[in-house]
Amino acid sequence: MPTVVVAYDEFNDTQVEEAVLKSIDARVIHSRNLNTPEALEAAKQADALMVTIQQVTADVLATLEKCKIISRVGTGLDAIDIPAATQRGIWVTNVPDYSVDEVSTHAMALLLAHARRIPDLVESTRRGSWDKMFVRPIQRLRGQTLGLLGFGRIGQAVASKARGFGLEIIVYDPYVDAQKLESMGVRPVDLDTLLRTSDYISLHAPLTESNQHIINEGALDKMKPTAFLINTARGALIDEDALLKALRSKQIAGAALDVFAVEPPPPDHPLLHEPRAMITPHIAWYSEAANHDVRVRGAEEVVRVLRGEKPIYPANSINSL
Ligand code: NAD
Repeated sequence: MPTVVVAYDEFNDTQVEEAVLKSIDARVIHSRNLNTPEALEAAKQADALMVTIQQVTADVLATLEKCKIISRVGTGLDAIDIPAATQRGIWVTNVPDYSVDEVSTHAMALLLAHARRIPDLVESTRRGSWDKMFVRPIQRLRGQTLGLLGFGRIGQAVASKARGFGLEIIVYDPYVDAQKLESMGVRPVDLDTLLRTSDYISLHAPLTESNQHIINEGALDKMKPTAFLINTARGALIDEDALLKALRSKQIAGAALDVFAVEPPPPDHPLLHEPRAMITPHIAWYSEAANHDVRVRGAEEVVRVLRGEKPIYPANSINSL
């Protein structure tokens, strides 16, 4: 009977996973935090691990004696040491497209909330005030420029939604051919142009070794003082200290963040309390449908690998199959 350790801190139960893993008669052990002695002890003898955003380091991987697959129940793979997993013959998989609609809508919701100053107005009316012009100036959204950093599944979905609002869309994605971008109805630009000309910048690139802090002090300096930065991708794309400084000095108008470099951020993290920052707790991916879909598909990858089949969404290549 195979053992599957499900290390989630978001979900209280593993019913969805158990229903899928029943087909291989697997025993499921649920742990809220992989990096506890009990969870690591269970993982040691497990045939598979299912994880959300918890770190799976080379040190953790070195303790796994039987594991054949780390199934990332989500999209971003930055918390898993993939080369170390490959070296140990462990498949790493993810579910790449379960929340494209949710994340793109969340990014647009943050954009629109700022465009219409919704958080400030709601806070004000909740205090019993009917004041309104304190939010001036609001500019017409149609015709403003949205810069997308990253034009994969989510970036493209944001573009198609943003077009409905009349936004001009420019894209910086060095890995997509400029002609292809043009054929998709967006204007390819270099990073400098994206930073200098966008009214809104929305990040949709995965976190890699080469783009950590791509939004640093120098980048923020180039942005318009009226510009608004949105991050639903990964926290470490932004230098948080530099962002805080840029918000406090009014170098940019504001920022909306769904993700932090370290999650959860400590309760006294200054960005949580910064009036020009709009924060949501890494929930852009969530809807009931996405939640169900990602857990079923993550468990199905485990079933495939433990049956000796190839996974559908491999992030590495293991020769034994
Ligand atoms: P994707 O792989 O389809 O697209 C990513 C795009 O980014 C690619 O086109 C790639 O060429 C581009 N890219 C890579 N490095 C870049 C760089 N340095 N500068 C500019 N572009 C670069 O991924 P996706 O499905 O669109 O998801 C994007 C990211 O969103 C994921 O990697 C994940 O980190 C994040 N995400 C967040 C949530 C959430 O709940 N907040 C949910 C799902 C995904």
